[in-house]
Amino acid sequence: MRDGDAGEPVLRVEGVETHYDATDGFLDRLLGRSRRVRAVDGVDFELREGETLGVVGESGCGKTTLARSVLRLVEPTAGSVYHRGEDLTALSSAALRDRRKDLQYVFQDPLSSLDPRLTAGDVVGEPLDVHGLATGAERDARVRELLETVGLKPSHAARYPHEFSGGQRQRLGIARALAVDPEVIVCDEPVSALDASVQAQILNLLADLQAEFGLAYVVIAHDLRVIEHVSDRVAVMYLGEFVERGPTEAVFDPPYHPYTEALLSAIPEPDPLWEGDGIRLEGTVPSPVDPPSGCRFHTRCPRLVPAAEYDLPGEVWRSLTDLKLRAMEADGVASLTAVSPSGEAGGSPAGDDAVDPLDPTSPTDPTSPDDSISPDDPTDSTSPADSTGPADPTEVPRGTFDVLVREEFGLPEPLPDADAEAAVGDAIDALHDDRIEEAAELLDAVFVSPCERHHPTEYQVGTDHGIACLRYDDGFDEEIGTFADGAEPTGSEPTGSAE
Ligand code: SF4
Repeated sequence: MRDGDAGEPVLRVEGVETHYDATDGFLDRLLGRSRRVRAVDGVDFELREGETLGVVGESGCGKTTLARSVLRLVEPTAGSVYHRGEDLTALSSAALRDRRKDLQYVFQDPLSSLDPRLTAGDVVGEPLDVHGLATGAERDARVRELLETVGLKPSHAARYPHEFSGGQRQRLGIARALAVDPEVIVCDEPVSALDASVQAQILNLLADLQAEFGLAYVVIAHDLRVIEHVSDRVAVMYLGEFVERGPTEAVFDPPYHPYTEALLSAIPEPDPLWEGDGIRLEGTVPSPVDPPSGCRFHTRCPRLVPAAEYDLPGEVWRSLTDLKLRAMEADGVASLTAVSPSGEAGGSPAGDDAVDPLDPTSPTDPTSPDDSISPDDPTDSTSPADSTGPADPTEVPRGTFDVLVREEFGLPEPLPDADAEAAVGDAIDALHDDRIEEAAELLDAVFVSPCERHHPTEYQVGTDHGIACLRYDDGFDEEIGTFADGAEPTGSEPTGSAE
């Protein structure tokens, strides 16, 4: 059904959290340290009769845990899931088993979810047995009917799962889910293990079954094209939270959440010369054990909001924040900028302007010629003669180090704001002296984005379309690209360590 507004909610999910204990090993226990994974962290949605809600996000964003929590295949830590007004989280095991007749699950990997000792007939017939829906000849006839419904042959009932192709196995998994005549099917990455041509067949099958039986689907996928193809409404998930949701056509048209925008720009086009829209999402989803303060996406967001105190473009602010975050996590300066004996380094200059950080007379060390170390200087540990492995970046001249750090993080020299430039210079001094903690503290005292201090609520940008990003707060000034000096986001609470 393409009219997302029609129909009653068959499923209502309110404030679902699924946290679990990841305390591991002797050291954690010795230190009395407990580690809680916040896999799903306060998710709400409604699923209406006959519609499809697509949930999309990268690996590790919590979408599979959400899918399993909704059906209580894993127990939510908090929140409620209502099916036709009844709270599933309050049901006894027996009552839940009975209720599962209405709520089915299709797994990502059909082979591992099918018992290899059962024939296809028994795989599909098992739910009929469990729920006492059919026996004997009636059961056999129903199994044959279900196999045909999903595009398999009745004769396939005698085969074992390993005798089917991947696509056929997924059809079998769908037939098993259909056996109990459910209202809702949660499909967890239903086509990600399949070839592209088979993916289309399975997606078309799901659409046909929805039209025939009025099914409602929650489809979990990391592939936006799959989600766009099947969904009436879309929820974009990042690190345990929904960051954007709305009707499919609204979510796929601007305005976007910056995370949605980055996911969209990564979709490859059929044109082999197409190179994307240029938004690169660096790194991976951070650990859900200790999510970032404020907006959880701030550690990777290409559109991070600069603080108003400094006159800096957004991309420079992103670079400064990257430097700060790396300094906070670094266990040595070498993890901020590497130097090899050949001068080839992560972030070291290349081409005609290349700096050889081990050449103390390098002409491209413009910032501090006085830092040059004579090749004869016995304290010059960067001498090529005794360089057999990666060099210690703190032993290159201060000026060269400055160039390398700026190259690594894409920072201009000088920064367009004099105060910001002075602060960065002090931080680079501290890094060069191997005082990493001090550098991190210095950067963290000076460069703090509103995105680090405020956890965005969902701002409504259209009918049934919400985006959890401070850029949609009333106080955000498009013209200056931030909040006016002294202004704070009005719709979001301050959070996190920088509070
Ligand atoms: S709140 Fe800030 S970090 Fe989060 S998505 Fe919006 S601009 Fe990016």
